[in-house]
Amino acid sequence: MRFADRMSLLGTETAFEVLVKARALEATGKDVVHLEIGEPDFDTPRHIIESAKEALDQGYTHYGPSAGLPELREAIAQDVARQRGTTVRAAQVVVTPGGKPIMFFVIMALAQPGDEVIYPNPGFPIYESVIRFVGATPVPIPLREEKKFSLDVNELRDLITDRTRLIILNSPQNPTGGILPQEDLQAIAELAVQYGIPVLSDEIYSRMVYDGEFRSITTCDGMQELGIILDGFSKTYAMTGWRLGYGVMPEELAIHITRLMTNSNSCTSSFSQRAALTALTGPQEPVEAMMAEFRRRRDVFVEGLNAIPGFRCAMPGGAFYAFPNVSEVSRSSKELADYLLQTGGVASLAGVDFGVYGEGYLRFSYANSLANLRKALERIADCVDTLGQR
Ligand code: PLP
Repeated sequence: MRFADRMSLLGTETAFEVLVKARALEATGKDVVHLEIGEPDFDTPRHIIESAKEALDQGYTHYGPSAGLPELREAIAQDVARQRGTTVRAAQVVVTPGGKPIMFFVIMALAQPGDEVIYPNPGFPIYESVIRFVGATPVPIPLREEKKFSLDVNELRDLITDRTRLIILNSPQNPTGGILPQEDLQAIAELAVQYGIPVLSDEIYSRMVYDGEFRSITTCDGMQELGIILDGFSKTYAMTGWRLGYGVMPEELAIHITRLMTNSNSCTSSFSQRAALTALTGPQEPVEAMMAEFRRRRDVFVEGLNAIPGFRCAMPGGAFYAFPNVSEVSRSSKELADYLLQTGGVASLAGVDFGVYGEGYLRFSYANSLANLRKALERIADCVDTLGQR
């Protein structure tokens, strides 16, 4: 079989590969604590599951409109407007199977060979992968530990050229847990408006902020014409396997993204969308309970990491990831992640899997029980102790 050249440009998400490795190790009888995969360990709230069952009984088993069921688009518009303090029309909303397709479709719709896309590094690996896939040039903007993993706006300004077609932001961030402060969002928005560059704001962790309010760059002046929100149900409602996400964007772009949906998925699963409607309009207590538990785990886990010699971990402001600096322990984050898995039975991801500026760090997802997190901390400390004595 002969494959198109572009297939060699497509990257991947290492979390899924490490998961396979960890499972293979478990099959040999080794106990592994899974801190590699980025999904809530909670079940989807019961009332959402019941609503999907009802929808199946009611006949939501057919194709629906490519942009999503009208009642769900309306509910998303209202929810996004309420959460962010802005106004949104249903026509700006496109529902997709997960948030990921919004990333893929938006990059596809806005960038082509010869164009440049600025993206956060370390960052979600699919940004760079898809930018390359469409033939555009990925331009990384480093996230700085000394700036609590925000970016340097002057550095961003220097990266903008007349070929920049899109800036991608993610806050709260994967993998760092960092949050872009309001003054940075404001300054980035001013740059975007000055140069007329659209901003894809990946807000999949928008409901997972530990202190203060979530801020979206799309509420800054001038961003109504340039802001594109990616959000969804995977993380907020523990619905990763349902494949439910959405984008909110200027209507002229929504038309193109809808056409990409027609050409690929046709539509998002109809009964899943009815469950999504229940998620938005039903009780929000399960989300609050999940966040309270994540906060407890964050506090225990980050304190534990900082007690390990050679580890230095900034307190994450959102999401459910810890991103400790481990450069004193190992020159290669990949080697250390591998050692922790093979010897300690703790699965994590190497910082470098999130881009070159992630070297020197590890990413742990603390979406696991407190008992398992404590077990992992002990094992990591033992491994580091053994490494130190070699
Ligand atoms: N954006 C970021 C930053 C993520 O970490 C993830 C999932 O890990 C996604 C988007 C995709 O989420 P979904 O499962 O809704 O496709």
